[in-house]
Amino acid sequence: MEEHDVIIIGAGPAGAIAAKRCAEEGLRTLLLERKKIPRFKLCAGGISAGALAELDFRIEEDLIERECYGARVCYKDHQIEVKKRSRMAVLVSRDRFDAYLVSKAVEAGAVLHDDERATTVHQRDGCILVETSEKEYRAEVVIGADGVNSTTAKYVREPFKPDEVGLCIAADIPKENEEVDSYIEGAVEFHFGIAKMGYGWVFPKERRLSVGIGGVSTDMKDPKKRFIEFLQKRGFDTDVTTHTYPLPRGGYDREVCSDRIILVGDAAGFVDPFMGEGIKYAFISGKLAAKRVLKSYENDRFSKRALESYKSECDEAFIEHLRYGLKLTRLMNRYPEIFFTLLAENERVLSKGLEVIAGRIDYKEYLKWLIPRVPRYMLHTISSAWRNK
Ligand SMILES: Cc1cc2nc3c(=O)[nH]c(=O)nc-3n(C[C@H](O)[C@H](O)[C@H](O)COP(=O)(O)OP(=O)(O)OC[C@H]3O[C@@H](n4cnc5c(N)ncnc54)[C@H](O)[C@@H]3O)c2cc1C
Repeated sequence: MEEHDVIIIGAGPAGAIAAKRCAEEGLRTLLLERKKIPRFKLCAGGISAGALAELDFRIEEDLIERECYGARVCYKDHQIEVKKRSRMAVLVSRDRFDAYLVSKAVEAGAVLHDDERATTVHQRDGCILVETSEKEYRAEVVIGADGVNSTTAKYVREPFKPDEVGLCIAADIPKENEEVDSYIEGAVEFHFGIAKMGYGWVFPKERRLSVGIGGVSTDMKDPKKRFIEFLQKRGFDTDVTTHTYPLPRGGYDREVCSDRIILVGDAAGFVDPFMGEGIKYAFISGKLAAKRVLKSYENDRFSKRALESYKSECDEAFIEHLRYGLKLTRLMNRYPEIFFTLLAENERVLSKGLEVIAGRIDYKEYLKWLIPRVPRYMLHTISSAWRNK
């Protein structure tokens, strides 16, 4: 039977970064991916400045299709656009971006087996066995980086509850680059109030606009119909190929380890529940999981108890931030008229919110800043509406 020190299941951003780190430290690292790389991944492709800062290498310039310095936010008939001086995010195509991350893992020494699906995991006393569509492997530990529909997670936690998962539907609208730039340049567009606990987006890319909506899955009964309505309202062609995909929401307390298994990225549910950003947390959790695995190699301890320090490190790094993100999401969706109106009308409310997206402040700080200002800003909104009557 083929032996490795660590097997990483799933070659998305979380798996690729975990594999790179483990291989760099000299561990015999197997990266299993059920699809052939490069593979399609439904995503708006926004990589925040905070996410990029987690990488110890610069991504190649030709992966960057557009740069983002701000956002246009729309709610009912309110609309505002704010741009910052520094770059908030870059926009990429996930097939090429993820393949690039995987190439970095392979360069570091990880062995990639793509087009090979992990089917079953057996947690034994002295090792862990992974069965795939091809054969069986033995290792000391497994990192489950197999996304929202994770097979590995079955050995760690309860399935996500329906109201803890978002459902997204999206499509690419082909456009000439001039049309893309005339629609939106140097920014991304968000539409609130069209999906419960979610939003619609229009992200500019190379010769296309990436358009989608996402909301809590229990509320997205007929996603295609909703999406077509959204496209019509924006004046886009509706004859497009759509894809739907679930997205876990972070901020909930979940198990992320069991004996010889650590979950990372979407498999662990590490996604910003307000913005839907997951790549940054895939990077951070991938790195922290690799760090924990290396420590386990030093003291030969792979039990759930030993691995649990990974969860505390994630807690410290970002889980509290995701919890506050969930509070903000619930608050805004409970009082949409107040909060979405402010976001789509008040430059300071949006500008400060963009600091969160860029990773310069966290949700706790944003909430502490926002809440005391709500009455004053609302009064301002009401009085200017009155004056413009
Ligand atoms: C519509 C949409 C838009 C989004 N937009 C953004 C955005 O703009 N910015 C952002 O930061 N986040 C965004 N996200 C979230 C982001 O896509 C995820 O958080 C991110 O991909 C998580 O990375 P991951 O490596 O954990 O999982 P994934 O990227 O899902 O990778 C998991 C990998 O595991 C493989 N796999 C699955 N099962 C197996 C198996 N049994 N054996 C072997 N391999 C397996 C899969 O093929 C896949 O390659 C979006 C998500 C959606 C759905």
